[in-house]
Amino acid sequence: MKKKIICIECPKGCVLSIDLQNDEIVSMSGNECPKGQEYALSEIKNPLRIFTSSVLTQGLSFKMMPVRTDKPIPKHKLFAAIKAVKKIRLCCPVNTGDVIVENFLGLDVNLVATRNSMN
Ligand code: SF4
Repeated sequence: MKKKIICIECPKGCVLSIDLQNDEIVSMSGNECPKGQEYALSEIKNPLRIFTSSVLTQGLSFKMMPVRTDKPIPKHKLFAAIKAVKKIRLCCPVNTGDVIVENFLGLDVNLVATRNSMN
């Protein structure tokens, strides 16, 4: 099976042409550096994404706090992440980078604030 994916490891955005057999890469072209091959392998075996969203606040000067995971999580966990953040209510002032949820979804990543709540 042939597949094309865009490498997002750097701004060049190389288009990787991959030939797959039984979920194994048998040939690849289009990558301008070795990182493209690592990225393609990750995309085939275990695609990961940084999760970004917002959580509701209570008693703060604005209604929503933007958040993100501090490391990528498996792509198949994104819907679980969306459901989880809907249940969060941030009551305390935070600064950029403060941990909102430790070990988010048990994935060994933290959910962190991406702005200050106090200005
Ligand atoms: S293959 Fe290398 S050069 Fe191309 S986008 Fe990926 S990291 Fe950048």
